Amino acid sequence: MSTTNRVLIIYTGGTIGMKDTPRGYAPAPGFLSELLAAMPPFHDRTMPAHTTPISRYGRRVRYDILEYAPLLDSSNMGLDDWVKIARDVERHYDAYDAFIVLHGTDTMAYTASALSFMLENLGKTVILTGSQIPLAEARSDAIGNVLGALTIAGHYEIPEVCLYFDNRLMRGNRTQKTDASGLAAFASGNAPPLVEVGIEVKVEWDRILAPPTRPFRVNPITHQAVAALRLFPGISAEMITNVLRPPTEGLVLESFGAGNAPDHRADFLDALRAGTDRGVVIVNVTQCQRGAVTTDYATGAALAEVGVIGGADMTPEAALTKLAWLLSQGLPRAEVARLMQTNLRGELTTTATQTRFSFRERVFIASVARALAEAGESVSRVEVERALLPVLMCSAAGLGDTTALERMLASGAEVDAADYDGRTPLHLAASEGHLGAVEFLLARGAKVDPPDRWGGTPLQDAVRQRHHPVVMALRRQGATLGADASIQLCGLAVAGDLTGIGLLLDAGADPSSGDYDRRTPLHLAAAEGHSAAIALLLARGADPRARDRWQQSPRDEALRGGHAAAAELLGVALT
Ligand code: ASP
Repeated sequence: MSTTNRVLIIYTGGTIGMKDTPRGYAPAPGFLSELLAAMPPFHDRTMPAHTTPISRYGRRVRYDILEYAPLLDSSNMGLDDWVKIARDVERHYDAYDAFIVLHGTDTMAYTASALSFMLENLGKTVILTGSQIPLAEARSDAIGNVLGALTIAGHYEIPEVCLYFDNRLMRGNRTQKTDASGLAAFASGNAPPLVEVGIEVKVEWDRILAPPTRPFRVNPITHQAVAALRLFPGISAEMITNVLRPPTEGLVLESFGAGNAPDHRADFLDALRAGTDRGVVIVNVTQCQRGAVTTDYATGAALAEVGVIGGADMTPEAALTKLAWLLSQGLPRAEVARLMQTNLRGELTTTATQTRFSFRERVFIASVARALAEAGESVSRVEVERALLPVLMCSAAGLGDTTALERMLASGAEVDAADYDGRTPLHLAASEGHLGAVEFLLARGAKVDPPDRWGGTPLQDAVRQRHHPVVMALRRQGATLGADASIQLCGLAVAGDLTGIGLLLDAGADPSSGDYDRRTPLHLAAAEGHSAAIALLLARGADPRARDRWQQSPRDEALRGGHAAAAELLGVALT
């Protein structure tokens, strides 16, 4: 038994489906569809047209092809074409499990970025791909690209607009075409691939965006008045002024390195300021393929001072399409500026303080919420979050992951969020000996002695697991041991366990309190002749005069056991 997933291939044009004609490569209607139907990896002859053979994962992919007329070289594409693709996804959204957009490579990164913003609450996989060499050529990269995209689209639910090329699935709005002739034509400098296809298909679920909780819709780009300008040494102020003239309402400024521009050129900065004063949203991104803009340098800070906003590590393609999309919504300028700096579709990396959850936690919580919803349970994501956050907090504490703890606290998790056994993050961090996490939790106001289901406290956990620095940190905050500490100390004295005795004493155990028969640790160490333990206990204030239920002193015990050295030590202590 195999299952069949349905994929819609939206074929817009590009080299991939071109035919060799006397005038060079040119798009040919119907040609790509015929080619695919004739190729065994794309068509199982025993099945209806456009059905792949059963994969090693037990699935077939059945695909339909929606071919555009005319087929376009992507250099001829623009905003209307992006919206058309978005509308076609919308029209067929319910009928297919996933979508592939075959597209020319030249502007594919722009289309991928634009689609990522326009397709709101996307819950299905959308993959753009194409090729550097036509599918009809013997040595074409199209076979691998289309087959890879079909495999991923037909098997995995990756609710994002992605770009697949050269065995890697990348987040679409992170990509750039970086090679005009090589087969690895795309790079995603600031975000690692979501999937890598080798012998196995390796999906990095942690990196994939959480599925939406609201219904899918298309929110189109209608606004054209955006521009991009790449700075170069010696650029004139006049050129800036010209670019910023109406109708321009948004400008992506591609600056040097980590967001720098000349700061000793008043004319240049004045030209930019005139633009921002007029209400043009100017976004600063780097010309580099990796890294982000910062205001670490004076030359970067100068841009911020004239009202230019930082675009973090967005690609120019993502920044341009996002700006056009935000301006299309008629939002106030300040809101456009704020959203340009906010991560909406994984297009930019925010600092830890701005991140709500890591992708791992968000994906996990959202997936559970969705699985429950699919199973017919009417629980909201908030309810799932409430149920799972304590467990995630405890697990992060057990791993000593203070960054995750910090994020979850910032999202409203409780510092003492206890799991089903009443064990708090502090219990877990203390048990595992994560001093950093213990200190972090205490600084954030964690209760010092919360009893778990069995009455156990973090200090007891730290003692049991012998994490001395953690014991000391808890003691500094006033943690106390429970009543059975003296029994425990007696046990350690019988065993002559010097480390254990020292640790328990540091944890606050009373060296002189005895067991049920009032036999103190000193009695027990003496009975066994553990001289070093006796010395340690005496040094830490144990009372050599203590009498047990039968009026025996520790020294009596030593003598009775024939431990002369121990008796001697205790004798000296009595004098
Ligand atoms: N000029 C072509 C295009 O972008 C190149 C390609 O498809 O690779 O449509």
